[in-house]
Amino acid sequence: MTKSFEKNIDDLRFQIELGVSETVSAKTREDTKNVNLLEINSKLEHESNELSEIKSLNDLQSFIENYDKCELSHTARSTVFCDGNADAEIMLIGEAPGNQEDIEGKPFVGKSGQLLDKILKTINIDRTNCYISNIIPWRPPGNRNPTAEEISMCLPFIKKHIELVNPKILLLVGSISSKSILNKNLGITKLRGEWHIYKDGDIEIPALPIFHPAYLLRRPNNKSYVMRDILLFKRKIQDMKFS
Ligand code: URA
Repeated sequence: MTKSFEKNIDDLRFQIELGVSETVSAKTREDTKNVNLLEINSKLEHESNELSEIKSLNDLQSFIENYDKCELSHTARSTVFCDGNADAEIMLIGEAPGNQEDIEGKPFVGKSGQLLDKILKTINIDRTNCYISNIIPWRPPGNRNPTAEEISMCLPFIKKHIELVNPKILLLVGSISSKSILNKNLGITKLRGEWHIYKDGDIEIPALPIFHPAYLLRRPNNKSYVMRDILLFKRKIQDMKFS
């Protein structure tokens, strides 16, 4: 396939995704992208003013439950807000709810959640001494990955969530969570195994990215990396003298 043929196919796919029924030139595609980004940015500005007024987790939960500008909130059964102990010093952040989470309204209760619980148990962490949430509070249809637009729309929610919980340490579960929270354009293979700092205004929190348990269920050979990372996490908790 030639480069220009591939590009045309790519353009057509993009137009079909948008539901466009007539051909649009490459220039229009760029224009459409820019308009979309402008729309998202202006929505986000508006939301960030409203979010800055929120002072409690209950109010944040109600705000997200009533938020209807993200398409995912229309297709999901539940708004999955959190599980665990809001007074904990450890906060885990995953990607998005799957089917079981959507049914129960809680993060990490399906198969990958059960594996996550087992991993955490090895260092004496459970839902009484950690707090869990996700970047995206609604299940993407068919468990597809959230789009960049959906991530940008939901990122202010998890940032506010971190501000209100005020944890001492973050465990970032999976690639989407790690990249979006750390604002890094690197894959999880590059990010895991090392400490990073989550920064937001005056907030600075040490953060450790790990492979997602759903990935480990598909590639069990990589469990040893997570066990190595989880021991790094344990050592840091001990050094920080809490739990
Ligand atoms: N995967 C996630 O990232 N979060 C969940 O809550 C469930 C599965």
